[in-house]
Amino acid sequence: MDPIVGIDLGTTNSEIAFIIDGNSTVITENDNGIVPSVVGLDADGKIIVGAEALNQAVIAPERTVQSVKRLMGTDQRIPMGDTTYLPQEISACILKALKERAERTLQQPIYKAVITVPAYFTDAQRQATREAGEIAGLNVVRIINEPTAASLAYESENAAAQTILIYDLGGGTFDVSVVRIENSVVEVLASTGDNHLGGDDFDKKILDVLTAYIQKDLSLNVSQNPVVMARLRRAAEKAKIALSFEPYARIEEDHIGKKLFRNIHLSYELSRSDFEKMIEDDLLRTMDSVSKALEDASLLPSAIDKIILVGGSTRIPRISHMLEEKFGQEPHGEIDPDLCVALGAAIQAGREMGLDSSSILLDITPYSFGTSALGEVDGIQTPYMYVPLIHRNTKLPTSRGEAFYTIYDNQAQVEVKVYQGEDPYALNNILLGKYMFDLTPSPVNSVIIVHFDLDINGILKVQATEKISGKKIEAVIENAISRFSEGEISRFKERVEEMWRPSEGDISQASGVQRSSGAAPADIEAVLTKALDKLDRAPEEDRDEMVNLMEDIQDAVSENRLDDARSFVSQLEEILFYIE
Ligand code: AMP
Repeated sequence: MDPIVGIDLGTTNSEIAFIIDGNSTVITENDNGIVPSVVGLDADGKIIVGAEALNQAVIAPERTVQSVKRLMGTDQRIPMGDTTYLPQEISACILKALKERAERTLQQPIYKAVITVPAYFTDAQRQATREAGEIAGLNVVRIINEPTAASLAYESENAAAQTILIYDLGGGTFDVSVVRIENSVVEVLASTGDNHLGGDDFDKKILDVLTAYIQKDLSLNVSQNPVVMARLRRAAEKAKIALSFEPYARIEEDHIGKKLFRNIHLSYELSRSDFEKMIEDDLLRTMDSVSKALEDASLLPSAIDKIILVGGSTRIPRISHMLEEKFGQEPHGEIDPDLCVALGAAIQAGREMGLDSSSILLDITPYSFGTSALGEVDGIQTPYMYVPLIHRNTKLPTSRGEAFYTIYDNQAQVEVKVYQGEDPYALNNILLGKYMFDLTPSPVNSVIIVHFDLDINGILKVQATEKISGKKIEAVIENAISRFSEGEISRFKERVEEMWRPSEGDISQASGVQRSSGAAPADIEAVLTKALDKLDRAPEEDRDEMVNLMEDIQDAVSENRLDDARSFVSQLEEILFYIE
């Protein structure tokens, strides 16, 4: 049987995948398998494809073609060097480069492929894609829709009928589709989107902020310098990507210009929250498309069984939050969103080759890992709000940082607690470690960045950094994942539930608020809430003691030492008595 490859021929990037040892696998060559969909002619007039072509785009735009996918199905001729080309010819160059990549790795010639296209592609666009394949020496045995491929990547082994929403935000396009999948047969119920919205727009927004800053604060106009602009655009993209994992990113570029014979350097800090504000309107537009897709499919959000994230830009955490708010379920991104479509295309290619049970190898964390902070759980203010940093089903290795804030002026210490679990109330999760961090005296709301690094062996590295001084503490938790089996966890949970069943007269019940079980008894909780409320007004000399006592209470409660907890509560009440 001839080998058949699966190809995601994207607007910004393309990938090729194949079934190797029963697993759908993206073909890499000392890279991550992502090939920029860029074609160019080098200085000698030879065709170059991918990263090499992308690199010359700034210095030789007349010899470089990007985003050819947007022109597929048209007769528009595209200039490159001294000649013009049809979109099929340019696309064929990308396909040929991918084909050769596969041939080098698999050590055999490849003549057949399954290629994916957007669900909205017309017959003419699909035909042009087939022709591009033929020009590249590939017989396109099937053209499948991108959302279909993504659903196959996730659901090829699941026979049950499911309705799936695929949110696909790449570099230059946004698509949202609703599909019905049963026994690997996929029907697209609705598909909509925006042909000109993606990560490139987000880069541009950061770039605008940078050029405005350079103009205003460094008194330099760089907008007419294409090389500096290209460097800044890359730095903007790098910062954007970093902000998916960290709360702050520093953009540093040396020698962006000269003033009075002195070199000017750029150093600019961007926070995730500022970046999120910049792109909020764009993301709201994508959510309008999500609503439209549901409407077109005549479905309510509750009818969606699963949400799948596709496209590199879906790593922006705000997107998952927005979808979770709308659907009440966490979207899935455990299959690399850049590679998901190619992996699904290869599964389809495997089928065409008569292989029925291909799957995708994944190393994911089965649990979430997080810390606790002051916040609301079920409408009640608590110091034990669970803040997951690494969400369950995240592909490993992974790392994530989040910003937290001190709660009063000159706070002397903070205890960083590390939990494993899913409950919004931290005490219902499993405490893996706690680390005291001595802080430098600084005003309220000073930033502490907590950073988790989880590797494939379940080793969790924890780091807390005081932003103002750079001072840090570090810890390593071995076996963070395999420490407890699922059975043990549910046993722990049952035990906690039994112990902490709310007593009669529990304030949470009286107010009709649903509280998760496992909370501190109502009388203790009430004192803690009061203490939190008064903390801001407390004289400075009392604050540290209050926080220490609150932490002692929390520890005593979590270790079921209720007598101790109550004795700490009395000490705390004595202090509270004197605070208005
Ligand atoms: P795609 O076309 O699916 O390959 O997506 C490419 C886009 O995803 C580019 O705009 C990238 O800058 C963007 N991207 C990749 N990784 C991340 C990330 N971690 N956070 C935000 N955007 C990303």
